[in-house]
This record gives sequence, C-alpha cells and structure tokens, in this order.
Amino acid sequence: MLDRNIQYKISFSGVILSVQPRSNVWRYRLDNRTHGTTGYNIFLKGAAEGEVPDLSVYDWRGCRMLAAASWKKKCFTCKWACMANVAVEYNWGVTQKFRFGSFCYGPKSCRLYKMGKPRAVPYKDCGSFYDEGWLDEICTERRGEDE
Ligand code: SF4
Repeated sequence: MLDRNIQYKISFSGVILSVQPRSNVWRYRLDNRTHGTTGYNIFLKGAAEGEVPDLSVYDWRGCRMLAAASWKKKCFTCKWACMANVAVEYNWGVTQKFRFGSFCYGPKSCRLYKMGKPRAVPYKDCGSFYDEGWLDEICTERRGEDE
C-alpha cells in the first residue's frame, strides 16, 4: 500500500465531463422547494494508474466509519475515503435529519484508519443512541483484513 504521508505522481488519462453544483433539496407539498448548495460534483471519465473502481466495487466492499479529521488530512486523496450525505430517520416516515458523515471503504488493516468518536443517532422522544462500530463489522463482513 502507498504511504499516504508521501506525495506520489500517478498517471491519469481521461476527461472532465462536467462540473456542477451539488445541492440538497427540501420539498413540502407543492408550494415549497428550497435548494441548498453543499459543494460541487465533478464527473470524470478515465482511469488512474489503470484503475478507477466502479461504484459496484464500493457497494460490494461496504464501509466503516472514518474519523472526520482523518478524512480531511491523511485520507483525503485515498480512493477509499468518502464523505456521505447522511439521512437520519428521526420520526419514521415523518421527519429526517441530515448531516455529513465520513467513511472508509479501504482495507481493514490500513494503519491510517481511525474510527473517530461514536456517532449519535437520535430518534424522536428517545434521545440519542451511539453507533460504536459494531455495524461496521457487519457492513464489511465480506472482506478479510487485507482486502
Ligand atoms: S483509512 Fe481508509 S480512507 Fe484512510 S488511507 Fe486507509 S484505506 Fe484510505
């Protein structure tokens, strides 16, 4: 595995297909539609070092929670790092809460991995329970330590 503390040049061949704003949209009935921009989507078509993993590869691998500080720093250029839009079902079928969450699809043996603090999952009238990582084991149970 590459040392993430060292910068490497890699070959990339392909094209930028499009750069578009990324937004969350909130709707209520027919007279409310609010758009909030959260960043950009960059659509690339190509291959880095002969490999760009297909999305189905990520789906198969599953992911673990990744500390936000790791995502921002050492993991930022890793193909397995992910910042997700998270919807928390706060009141089933009635209310959802939204936030960002960082995750890692990479090998469980990666020495840069840090889970970070357990994540609160609130539910109406029940306070918050904390995801302490046991779901990560289930989400990545298809893979061995070095896969
Ligand atoms: S912890 Fe995960 S995202 Fe970070 S460098 Fe390792 S494999 Fe990549």
